[in-house]
Amino acid sequence: MRDYLKFYIDGKWVDPATPKTAEVINPANEQVSGHISLGSPADVDTAVAAARRAFASWGETSVKERLDLLEAIQAEYLRRERELGEAVTEEMGAPISLGCGFHTLLGKGHLQTAIEVLREFKFEEQRGVTIIRKEPIGVCGMITPWNWPMNQTCVKIFPALATGCTMILKPPQLAPYSAQILAEIIDAAGTPAGVFNMIQGQGSVIGTALSRHPDVDMISFTGSETVGIQIQKDAAETVKRVGLELGGKSAWIVLDDPAMAENVAAATAGMMGNSGQTCSAGSRLLVPSARLNEAIESARAAAEGVSVGDPNGNFAMGPVVSKSQYESIQDYIQKGLDEGAQLIAGGLGKPEGLDKGYYVKPTVFLGNNQMVIAREEIFGPVLVMIGYDGVDDAVEIANDSPFGLGGYVSGSDVEAARDIARRMRTGAIWINGGFDFHAPFGGYKHSGNGREWGEHGFAEYLEIKAIVG
Ligand code: NAD
Repeated sequence: MRDYLKFYIDGKWVDPATPKTAEVINPANEQVSGHISLGSPADVDTAVAAARRAFASWGETSVKERLDLLEAIQAEYLRRERELGEAVTEEMGAPISLGCGFHTLLGKGHLQTAIEVLREFKFEEQRGVTIIRKEPIGVCGMITPWNWPMNQTCVKIFPALATGCTMILKPPQLAPYSAQILAEIIDAAGTPAGVFNMIQGQGSVIGTALSRHPDVDMISFTGSETVGIQIQKDAAETVKRVGLELGGKSAWIVLDDPAMAENVAAATAGMMGNSGQTCSAGSRLLVPSARLNEAIESARAAAEGVSVGDPNGNFAMGPVVSKSQYESIQDYIQKGLDEGAQLIAGGLGKPEGLDKGYYVKPTVFLGNNQMVIAREEIFGPVLVMIGYDGVDDAVEIANDSPFGLGGYVSGSDVEAARDIARRMRTGAIWINGGFDFHAPFGGYKHSGNGREWGEHGFAEYLEIKAIVG
């Protein structure tokens, strides 16, 4: 049982202003796995005041001082990496190989990237008679989701620390454990009091208090579109910057070439990773209409090959995060059936033998781009395959979406794939499994307005000043 009842404020572990706790449920077995405290606006006031005080000196530190701190955090992170991964598995149900693998690797990668960018970053440059300075924006509120908890927190905290900002993190209520350990890591590394603060609790209370707070200079939010819109409204009165990283319904275009079936299989299995709970998941799979039967067979075999079970066992996919997430996914599967999509694999209900825990069958539909299951973010292991007739049609279908977060192109002709990528209205397109910590990540359209990762992630936390003459 994990009982994480204290908040990290002003360099100390403190009790909440008003005691109130909530249970945390392990999605793999529906049992209570621990408790957290739920904060109140009074805790936010204390943390913001501490962050404001700390900004006066942290905002003035040298690059060397900030690099020293990031390196000290890195040493602690590496020491406790396994614990972080186990916490991720327990809080949100990722298989242990994923929790202790890609989940913690992403956190580690953002930390290393922040160090690399900071070493080279130019905070001041001369252009003609003007000095252009990049200065820390100040006190930042960070509101994060549960789906890739280490990724979402680390991609915010480390660039903010690197640029000289101070911050208050509000982790997701559903997945609070890894953030608590991360706060312990940041504390143990000797972070000056008030630079980093963490309060657990409800979004509608802590998130709202941060968004409206007159002494918070910016909010970095990752989560759903609905909450992102609310945060912008709450932040409007205080004219603070709001960085939004929202949902997606990304297209995965498989080109018509000899590797088509193999690429369909990889795209299908890839989409099911993390139980499909990835904002940039390639949840619309676009395949050549002329080879639909081949693509269907390949996707079916791939989905049926995804083993589902206890995250602490040897399975490719664990449960989804919560009962309500499970129910929402079931509703979407029912919607797909109701609107006439052809079920290729999976379907309603839990996989055989998995009655306890929020397990979903890896599901593939053949549908069209106007169906609800192709337009809305399901955020579960549900893939919609759509046929295209020629590359122009594929691009048109890919772009016909309210979202614009990610995109994928698989095919042996990389130049052709890049040309297609240039025509896609999304923030990032990955070709044949490419991956880069320095590549910016963020959305077009309803997928948001921010850019995180690498050097672009620094810009989120910087003001620009001109000194002319
Ligand atoms: P969510 O919007 O429900 O919650 C995200 C965070 O916002 C949580 O910490 C929550 O407590 C808080 N929150 C809730 N109501 C709030 C309010 N009124 N004011 C301020 N904060 C509030 O999202 P979720 O269910 O945790 O995460 C899933 C969503 O996140 C999906 O839509 C997914 O696509 C998106 N996401 C986007 C990215 C990206 O980088 N673009 C990455 C991961 C997840």
